Amino acid sequence: MTRWLFGDQLGPHFVDDHDGPILMVESRRVFVRRRYHRAKAQLVLSAMRHRAAELGDRVSYVRAPTYAEAVRAAVADVAGPLEVVQPTSYAAVRLVHRLEADVEIDLLPARGFATSREDFTSWAEGRGDKRLLMEDFYRDARRRHGVLLDDDGGPAGGRWNFDADNREPPPKGQDTLGVDDPPWPVEDAIDAEVRADLDRWERDGEVAFVGRDGPRLFAATRAEALAVLDHFIARRLADFGAHEDAILEGDPWMAHSLLSAPLNLGLLDPLEVVARAEAAFRNGEAPLASVEGFVRQVLGWRDYIWHLYWHLGEDYRDRNELGATGDLPAWFADLDGSATRARCLSHTLDGVAERGWVHHIPRLMVLGGYALQRGWAPDQLTDWFHRSFVDGYDWVMVPNVVGMSQHADGGVLATKPYTSGGAYVNKMSDHCSDCALNPRIRVGEDACPFTAGYWWFLDRHRERFSSNHRMARQVKGLDRLTDLDELVAQEDERGSSPP
Ligand SMILES: Cc1cc2nc3c(=O)[nH]c(=O)nc-3n(C[C@H](O)[C@H](O)[C@H](O)COP(=O)(O)OP(=O)(O)OC[C@H]3O[C@@H](n4cnc5c(N)ncnc54)[C@H](O)[C@@H]3O)c2cc1C
Ligand code: SF4
Repeated sequence: MTRWLFGDQLGPHFVDDHDGPILMVESRRVFVRRRYHRAKAQLVLSAMRHRAAELGDRVSYVRAPTYAEAVRAAVADVAGPLEVVQPTSYAAVRLVHRLEADVEIDLLPARGFATSREDFTSWAEGRGDKRLLMEDFYRDARRRHGVLLDDDGGPAGGRWNFDADNREPPPKGQDTLGVDDPPWPVEDAIDAEVRADLDRWERDGEVAFVGRDGPRLFAATRAEALAVLDHFIARRLADFGAHEDAILEGDPWMAHSLLSAPLNLGLLDPLEVVARAEAAFRNGEAPLASVEGFVRQVLGWRDYIWHLYWHLGEDYRDRNELGATGDLPAWFADLDGSATRARCLSHTLDGVAERGWVHHIPRLMVLGGYALQRGWAPDQLTDWFHRSFVDGYDWVMVPNVVGMSQHADGGVLATKPYTSGGAYVNKMSDHCSDCALNPRIRVGEDACPFTAGYWWFLDRHRERFSSNHRMARQVKGLDRLTDLDELVAQEDERGSSPP
């Protein structure tokens, strides 16, 4: 059997039960069709080529314009049937099924996630009509995998959830959290070769990218990923929790792990990451609130999102319950931070342009929150996030954008839309103090587009949200605004132009 590895199946756990030949396929067409961040293209190709170099003679590394062409050509070369670990998107699963017309392909169960599809399905079915809450899924996963439990089976420290300790605003008077930077990768000849290829493709007019491609910041090999993990556990995890929901302009990384890209490339297994975090707590190297907060992300959120992607079906991506049909404006799509006076937006777009990454809260509160207020089409936003972020893959973007960020599923993932006015951005970040606009003003030249946009959004969806018990109070607040007509006229006029 030849095992066919996709570009996000690069760790040892995708081949440790196989000692035969391996097929890897690199297709340029992926980048021709859509405008990706250049740093993402660099990272993914570098990771694949590094893995092929490690696997040596065992691997047939095929480069071809299209994926299907490459596999068909390769299949003619490799004798016998193929096997492949379940790929991570509907499109890739369809490709495997299409190719089954030409060659026998054995589809193995998914790897790289903590909970199996079967376990998720039986958990979901066991709930009857109850909502598929992440908190319940996560507690079940803690019990299933024996993570952070006391001897009596209860949660370590007597609590399942330390969110209340982990929602601190940014520390006052500090530009950074003061945590050590992660170890940055040292580029090699493979990185240089990838860059030369990207340059050539761009020069030939075959592909176009967004964003800048500076020195590579994210792990592309297992060794680099382990170095980031080791350093995170030893030097950053203890500080992960308290300020995980806060933004500091001068500190893009804060105490976040930077592990999403290597996890999603398959270089690390989530359970090994969780085990390392738990060991740090048991050894007294990191406090429980931080460790629980981190484990919740990896064992809880990451797996929950993965399972919902499959559980909710392929047409979930098309959900648009709020009827948002606006086009993504060019300034936003092209990551042009200089287009806007709104410091939070400008800084966040610049961060994405520079790194192809910003942490969870700028994604949710700034980028997603603004798109929601403006009524931009969720499918366009999903595509944009997918292309612009180094860790973006279909399985992870669709539920995060459609459900968590745009409330386009009408409340399957989150009971209320996640969006806020400038006051909350002001509380959780240090953007507003240096912004030309004022978070307390909603109408006029100095009006904050988030504050005005928040009320504009609520007014547009007044009817729907007045019957949502978590939103009814906010909707009632509209009645107290004496300048609502003026505000609505102002925001109707602004629409999607840069604020
Ligand atoms: C609109 C939006 C889009 C997002 N798109 C992606 C994406 O394409 N790829 C991606 O991996 N994450 C995505 N996330 C989740 C999260 O923002 C990133 O995983 C995180 O910022 C990556 O940085 P980190 O590795 O330093 O994470 P940390 O803050 O250190 O968190 C640890 C790990 O938890 C996992 N995690 C936490 N939250 C989520 C989540 N909601 N979904 C999946 N995994 C999660 C990641 O693997 C992450 O590495 C998105 C969130 C939002 C709101
Ligand atoms: S005042 Fe408004 S636009 Fe300016 S940084 Fe704060 S939230 Fe953003």
